[in-house]
Amino acid sequence: MASSGRGRLAGKNAVITGAAGGIGLETSILFAKEGANVLMTDISQEALDKAAGKVKQLVPDASRVETRLCDVSKEADVKAAVEHLDSWGGLDVMFNNAGIMHARDDDALNTPEDIWDLTHNINVKGVWYGSKHAVLALRRHGKKKGSIVNTASVVALVGSATPQLAYTASKGAVLALTRELAIVHAREGFRFNSLCPAPLNTPLLQDWLGDDQAKRHRREVHFPTGRFGEAVEQAQAVVFLASDESSFVNGTDFVVDGGMTKAYVTPE
Ligand code: NAD
Repeated sequence: MASSGRGRLAGKNAVITGAAGGIGLETSILFAKEGANVLMTDISQEALDKAAGKVKQLVPDASRVETRLCDVSKEADVKAAVEHLDSWGGLDVMFNNAGIMHARDDDALNTPEDIWDLTHNINVKGVWYGSKHAVLALRRHGKKKGSIVNTASVVALVGSATPQLAYTASKGAVLALTRELAIVHAREGFRFNSLCPAPLNTPLLQDWLGDDQAKRHRREVHFPTGRFGEAVEQAQAVVFLASDESSFVNGTDFVVDGGMTKAYVTPE
């Protein structure tokens, strides 16, 4: 697996949002290994510097790895991040990955309205802005193909008795808007797919679970594999969806969950 000139993503220019941690960072590493030029974006420059340092350390011959601040809930930030790639030859791959699950997100009765709005501004509007500016960039550069991957979640597919209503609704919206975009832009060669990760070993969930073993067990028991997923297992799927290997995969809810959403009773 060489990074410059060869690889499954050789020569592709990619923007990754929420790239400083979890799935975004693991995807940045794999994208760089597979020969992509990567713009890592997030809301903290300090976190981005650390993350990009890790990518460069693990992939010393990476083609191009740069960072840029981008709050996905602000359209001007997203537009500027995508346009950053104009001088590279234009965007080919957009990974709309940034998302939050707020500690005060709850059920219909107890979710505060400001938390609902914050969650939807980042998780839904952020994906819309990323998709919109990806389409504009692909057209601007006369590209005949492009891949946009939007991160949803398995909670958009199955209900959960441990509620986070704003988050669940936001991820359902990601599935719906991605499906429609896939159809609208299919004849242009622009593919849109959703990634549906199961609960993972990333700070987003693990910080929230903390040392609470009962809370942890309540979730682990639903995995046929008996474990949470790893961020890199999501990143592997994103490489496939971003690459030309998935040229006939469009509008799909790409589920990477160890079989969780297909299970009734799991092995003891
Ligand atoms: P993470 O918290 O490790 O990473 C998310 C990144 O998004 C962070 O670096 C954070 O700084 C960034 N971010 C937060 N707000 C932002 C904003 N306004 N603009 C730009 N960046 C922002 O989480 P992760 O697990 O890697 O999550 C990535 C995606 O996967 C999210 O969309 C999340 O909802 C989804 N997801 C995660 C899990 C899980 O269990 N971890 C499961 C299903 C789906």
